[in-house]
Amino acid sequence: MTGEYLFISDCHLDPEKPIISTVLIKFLRERASSAGRVYILGDLFEVWLGDDDPNPNHIELIETLYSLSKNTRLYFLAGNRDFLLGEDLARRAGLEIVSEPVILNLGKQKVVLMHGDLLCTGDHDYQAFRKTVRNPKWQSDFLQKPLIERQKIAIGLRSESTTATAHKKAEIMDVSRDAVISCFDRHDVDVIIHGHTHRPGIHHYARARSRYVLGNWNPNPSYLSWGDTTGLVLHDPRI
Ligand code: MN
Repeated sequence: MTGEYLFISDCHLDPEKPIISTVLIKFLRERASSAGRVYILGDLFEVWLGDDDPNPNHIELIETLYSLSKNTRLYFLAGNRDFLLGEDLARRAGLEIVSEPVILNLGKQKVVLMHGDLLCTGDHDYQAFRKTVRNPKWQSDFLQKPLIERQKIAIGLRSESTTATAHKKAEIMDVSRDAVISCFDRHDVDVIIHGHTHRPGIHHYARARSRYVLGNWNPNPSYLSWGDTTGLVLHDPRI
């Protein structure tokens, strides 16, 4: 018996929005406690600048994850906000870091898990930025800088990103249809599960393929569950 699988993403935990941490901790202690696996598909944190950041606001969450990990396998796949989450934090939180694409079999369906940003191919500036910051050399150079300097750089990058986002058309910020179809083909899957766009929903495509989009937490939970009798069910107050 593998138990139920739960999928979440885009909690964007932020000391300025403590309610989301409270809701997530409750979700992990109650809803997730009977699950066999929990997959966190990125952007758990609004920002993560390295595991050496003491982040006192996140201690209770990390402890909650760790105790959940005693009975439930926890997987973390990086988002565009928390791709610097490393092995040290993973050990403290009982997380297993996995890299996208993650391919799973859920019953008879073959599924790919991803954060979702790679599907937004219309946003060329973002894809170029992503290529830079996902380079291991860039990451190790960045992580060697003092924390205060990393914080300054992050503030600069965020204000640039906010300004750029404000000028982008809504469709650029969503997944591109071509990228979705080629993702189905390349991985030969029936289902794509992702977050990132903050547009929770279920989309159907030819050949009985479907795409499940996890929502952001605002602060209500948005999650997907899978059980062998229920199949995939998206739980989001907006849909
Ligand atoms: Mn994201």
